[in-house]
Amino acid sequence: MRIVLVGPPGAGKGTQAHVLAKTLSIPHISTGDLFRANISQGTKLGLEAKAYMDAGRLVPDEVTIGMAKDRMLQEDAANGFLLDGFPRNLGQAKALDEILATEGIALDGVLDLEVPEDEVVKRIAGRRLCRTNGAHVFHVDYNAPKTEGVCDECGGELYQRSDDTEEAVRVRLEEYHSKTEPIIGYYQEQGLLVTISALGKVDEVTERAVAALK
Ligand code: ADP
Ligand code: ADP
Ligand code: ADP
Repeated sequence: MRIVLVGPPGAGKGTQAHVLAKTLSIPHISTGDLFRANISQGTKLGLEAKAYMDAGRLVPDEVTIGMAKDRMLQEDAANGFLLDGFPRNLGQAKALDEILATEGIALDGVLDLEVPEDEVVKRIAGRRLCRTNGAHVFHVDYNAPKTEGVCDECGGELYQRSDDTEEAVRVRLEEYHSKTEPIIGYYQEQGLLVTISALGKVDEVTERAVAALK
């Protein structure tokens, strides 16, 4: 299966993608995680992306599309993938269509996670990520690790993202409305869009997602 996840920052895309990727045996490809890995490794790509990320703005397409393409064309993604956080604007959606066409493959669905803005603000405020594996996501209240500050899945150290500040989140939400939301209409026209509510427990949302993708 080839699936795209969309939804505002804090909707639970990463959390759901992590579970769905295991269930469906396909890699979870998160452009946010790829950027953060590049930043922690000090690569040129990471340096290019960092200022945009800290401000809550989208990283330019010239940087983002190549990185996403390289990851999608890796061997483990040959039979499917779950894209989390890509595409994030119409230019990226069109670039993705070109990549898929060149490879002779197509998307199976685009899952849109709907959640009110006051809820995403609460989710982001308490978000903690694992330094060892950025796909391990926790929340201080809603999805607390057994031991404070320690990842349940791998024992890594939990930290708060430098862009999970009130100001950067406000900008991310603006970027979402102005640049990312238009891709929802684009995928609706292609007959690929399925929308579910991302409210409720993580397990409940996963059940909805699995049912919607069938
Ligand atoms: P969230 O889901 O909280 O918005 P992400 O980890 O998906 O966080 O993204 C963090 C940041 O990484 C974004 O604010 C943006 O700067 C950058 N980023 C991630 N994916 C993309 C993308 N497809 N295009 C441009 N920038 C991106
Ligand atoms: P350096 O110039 O130090 O080699 P790069 O930024 O070129 O640093 O490469 C660091 C890592 O980031 C490499 O693994 C490379 O594959 C990846 N990378 C850099 N730029 C891009 C890009 N535009 N698209 C995809 N991956 C990239
Ligand atoms: P996104 O990738 O869309 O930005 P995340 O998966 O990182 O979102 O989730 C944002 C925060 O909300 C994390 O702290 C996560 O633990 C928490 N979260 C995810 N799903 C739920 C849920 N169904 N209920 C409550 N909190 C959730």
